[in-house]
Amino acid sequence: MKTADATSLHSELWARIEADSIILRAHIRLGSIEPETQGEFFINKLGEPQINVYRDRRADTVDDYERELITLVHEYGHAISHLKGQRPREEMPEASAELTPADKQAIQDEEARAWTYGHEVLSAMGVTDFEAFEKQKAEADAIYLRRLGLVGGP
Ligand SMILES: [Zn+2]
Repeated sequence: MKTADATSLHSELWARIEADSIILRAHIRLGSIEPETQGEFFINKLGEPQINVYRDRRADTVDDYERELITLVHEYGHAISHLKGQRPREEMPEASAELTPADKQAIQDEEARAWTYGHEVLSAMGVTDFEAFEKQKAEADAIYLRRLGLVGGP
């Protein structure tokens, strides 16, 4: 994906998510947010679907358009799963080694669904180069495996 493409796709996707009545906010990453957390999808206190993306330097400045585009489309994938009634729970449990095998599987299935929907959305927007997408997905999958206690390591 070229930088110019990532920048215009980012604004196109941002507008599309807001047009879908999903609350979308960019926040500066504070100490309470783990450095590896790029974004999140949740139902807010008003009962609205919301996506937060986290930025390192300034809330109003994108750190890396391609990376945030991929984060956004993944979180939008969770929103699509929610809108289709496929999320197993409105509030998914926090990924942890203490969860039951069924909950761990539910989290992994939901993550896979979000990546699949994200891939479909980018394809429909004309993206054909998925190298960065696959790399970011592999990183995220590895983080989940570790948090779920399904592989060794700290
Ligand atoms: Zn996810």
